[in-house]
Amino acid sequence: TPVIGVLALQGDVREHAVALAEADALARPVRRPEELAEVDGLVIPGGESTTMSNLALAFGLMEPLRARVAEGMPVYGSCAGMIMLADKVLDGRDDQQSVGGIDMTVRRNAFGRQNESFESTVALHGGWATGLEGGPLHGVFIRAPWVESVGAGVEVLAELASGPAAGRIVAVRQGNLLATSFHPELTGDHRVHASFVDLVRAAAR
Ligand code: GLN
Repeated sequence: TPVIGVLALQGDVREHAVALAEADALARPVRRPEELAEVDGLVIPGGESTTMSNLALAFGLMEPLRARVAEGMPVYGSCAGMIMLADKVLDGRDDQQSVGGIDMTVRRNAFGRQNESFESTVALHGGWATGLEGGPLHGVFIRAPWVESVGAGVEVLAELASGPAAGRIVAVRQGNLLATSFHPELTGDHRVHASFVDLVRAAAR
């Protein structure tokens, strides 16, 4: 059974731990480098990327996170977690740092004031590890980023299906790194987490 950490500096840690357990992984909170060293994969939850960045620096986790990403550890980032995995962040705070790893540019709080939080159908493309054959996802977006552009090595996994931001990229994968703008941990549909658990299993082999 894969042991998957949830970065527990800030954000909706508990909901991801529940979703991972329901997807047959052992979930562990990660706050210290020693805890990071013991997991097979990591979820970076939703929350506030500026705060997460500050705390990762204060807890001495930023460099260890970058090192494990460089080694190929699977990481799934949701919302603020997606921002943490982006090589480039637009509309970030000046001192905000990301872990990076996905060759993409994300825009923080991209959907604007009247749409800061909304729910929408998300149209899926191929490239998920497994398990997303069951049709579109219901996306919960909370002051979410969108993916403004991706490099050649990045697979686009999902776009918004409708509404003013239709066609915007909201899920991507680059190798063992997976990121979504939305929050599948809040919907009871754990296919995204199950797909990530399979990715962790495959990487461990
Ligand atoms: N707006 C937040 C940020 O910039 C992300 C919101 C979320 O994770 N739900 O980090």
